[in-house]
Amino acid sequence: MTKFYFEQGPIRPPSEAYSLLLRVTRNCPWNRCEFCHTYKKEKFSLRSVEEIKKDIDIVQEIVSEIKSLSWRYGFGGEITVPLVNLILQDPQHFSDGFRSVALWLHEGGKNVFLQDGDNLTLKTISLIEILRYLKETFPSIERITTYARAKTVSKKRVEELQELYRAGLSRIHIGLETGYDPLLQYIQKGVTAQEHIEAGGRVKESGISLSEYVVLGLGGRGMWHEHALNTAKVLNQINPDFIRIRTLKVLKTMPLYQKIEKKEFILLSDDEIVEEERLLINHLEGITSTFTSDHILNLLEEVEGKLPEAKEKMLKCIDRYLALSKKEKDNFRLGRRAGLYRSVEDLYKPELRSQVESALLQIETARPGGFEKALSDLMESFI
Ligand code: SF4
Repeated sequence: MTKFYFEQGPIRPPSEAYSLLLRVTRNCPWNRCEFCHTYKKEKFSLRSVEEIKKDIDIVQEIVSEIKSLSWRYGFGGEITVPLVNLILQDPQHFSDGFRSVALWLHEGGKNVFLQDGDNLTLKTISLIEILRYLKETFPSIERITTYARAKTVSKKRVEELQELYRAGLSRIHIGLETGYDPLLQYIQKGVTAQEHIEAGGRVKESGISLSEYVVLGLGGRGMWHEHALNTAKVLNQINPDFIRIRTLKVLKTMPLYQKIEKKEFILLSDDEIVEEERLLINHLEGITSTFTSDHILNLLEEVEGKLPEAKEKMLKCIDRYLALSKKEKDNFRLGRRAGLYRSVEDLYKPELRSQVESALLQIETARPGGFEKALSDLMESFI
């Protein structure tokens, strides 16, 4: 089904799992962050408005094809679960893009995520044309979001951002990572805490919703304290709509790995990362952001909620984990990473707990003393 091919990039935020993924630029123009491997070795390029419009047209053709398949298979034009399953389970006939459109339609065809790493590098006028074309083609669209670097955002005037908002850009996801300048430099983020604050302020002023990503564990042993405190300080000044947490996992393909090899950067343990998260949350003051732990690498998924109300609840969740015995913590860490536990509460579900206990036993039998390595391998498989 090559006639239904349209271009898609490699990643999206977890919150865009059911969004239509549409690539408007390729890769990342910065590409130097030491903890990121997504676009390494790939060259950044802009896609032309014509190319992107053509892709939108192809998505529309796919939508028509899926609807006629629905009639053909007796689903009366509806995008039913059996129809979507039929498409999803047949990768030989249906491309990745085709299958993702089926899933998108099933979820109501409401959300779109523009890929890749920094789409505000496009001229504002071009982005507006794309946004308008998207909304005209699919009136069902309610939300259009994108990744952008703070540095690039800060080069746009508030008026330009407002125009983008009016054209349909609903949310910008920015990788804050940390609010600590020496750490921003160390990881080569190419932006300062002050620039993050300015960019965040502009997005908020424009009316576009703002998501700021923070990487837990990014400070390592050397800077964890300053990382937590200064990140809270920057977030308190931005007051983003969302604070999204993800946990550092270093792969060999990331430049940071070399620093670990040289023992220059010491990774935090899971418990230390939880302590760091506690320090960060405890210092979030006077903001109304929604704190979200929606990444599979995060140990405590249930640490989330709307600030300031949820702060105490989140701290209690953390303290509940920290108060567990070493044996319980290990059981929880494995259960969470194996996808069996969703919260510390699940530790007390006998069926789940015994499943995790037998998995722990298997690991210990196959690789005595290899628990941490097994856990690390499991986490690696999520990236
Ligand atoms: S700006 Fe984002 S995509 Fe680009 S290298 Fe840094 S983390 Fe990766």
